[in-house]
Amino acid sequence: MVKVDLDHVYKKYTGNDKYSVKDFNLHIDDQEFIVFVGPSGCGKSTTLRMIAGLENISKGTFKIGGKVMNDVAPKERDIAMVFQNYALYPHMTVYDNMAFGLKLRKVSKEEIDQKINQAAEILGLKDYLKRKPAALSGGQRQRVALGRAIVRDAPIFLMDEPLSNLDAKLRVTMRAEIAKLHQQLKTTTIYVTHDQTEAMTLADRIVVLKDGEIQQVGSPLEVYNKP
Ligand code: ADP
Ligand code: ADP
Repeated sequence: MVKVDLDHVYKKYTGNDKYSVKDFNLHIDDQEFIVFVGPSGCGKSTTLRMIAGLENISKGTFKIGGKVMNDVAPKERDIAMVFQNYALYPHMTVYDNMAFGLKLRKVSKEEIDQKINQAAEILGLKDYLKRKPAALSGGQRQRVALGRAIVRDAPIFLMDEPLSNLDAKLRVTMRAEIAKLHQQLKTTTIYVTHDQTEAMTLADRIVVLKDGEIQQVGSPLEVYNKP
C-alpha cells in the first residue's frame, strides 16, 4: 500500500516574500490517479518537486506509506518522475537513457537489461534502443521518458505535463497509453496538466489549485459538471 499524505504543506522560495504553496492538505490512496490543474504559477510544479524531494518543504509534513519523508533524499524516495521536456540525455542512446537511473542505484547489468527490454516491449521501443533522442519523433521521446520511469519499478509516478509538447493527435494516443500503463503498473500517480480532457479521462480525483492553495478536490464529474 503506497499512500501519499501532504499535511499542511507550505513552500516559500528563498528570496520570495509570498508562499508559493499554502496549507496544502491532500491524502492520496494507494494506486490513485490524481490530477493537478490550475493556471500557470498556481504551485503545481512546486508541489510535485517537493514530493520528489527536488525542493525542500518550508512547513508541514509529507509522508509516503505513513512514513515522514521531508528530509529523505530524492534517490531514496521510490518515486519516478516524467517531465514535460522529457529530460533525456542527448548524447546517450535510448537504452542508456533508460539505464541511467538504475546504474546510479547499482542495479545489476542483467536486471537492467531485463527491465529495459520489458519496458521497450510495453512502449513499442524495441527497434529504437540504439538510437539517440535526436533521431526519434516527439512521441517516441516521450515513450523513452516513460520507459525511464517504468524501469525504476517505483510505486509512485509524478508526471509534469508529460504530453504538452506533443501535437493534438499524438496527445490523444499517448493519453490512452498512460491510462493503460496505470492499469498495468498500478502506481500511485500525480499528474499535472492544463488540458481538461486529459484531466477528465485520467483522473480518479482532480485537485484544482489557485494561488498556491487547493480550491477544490473531487471526481472529474464533481469538478467539471458543476450546476
Ligand atoms: P505552476 O507549476 O502551477 O505553473 P509553479 O509551482 O511553477 O507553478 O510556481 C508557483 C509560484 O512559485 C510562482 O509564483 C512562481 O513564480 C514561484 N516559483 C516557482 N519556482 C521558483 C523558484 N525556483 N524560485 C522562486 N520562485 C519560484
Ligand atoms: P529520476 O529518478 O529523478 O527520475 P534518474 O534516477 O534517472 O531520474 O536520475 C538520477 C539523477 O540524475 C537525479 O539527480 C536527476 O535529477 C538527474 N537527472 C535526470 N535527468 C537529468 C537530465 N536530463 N539532466 C540533468 N540531470 C538529470
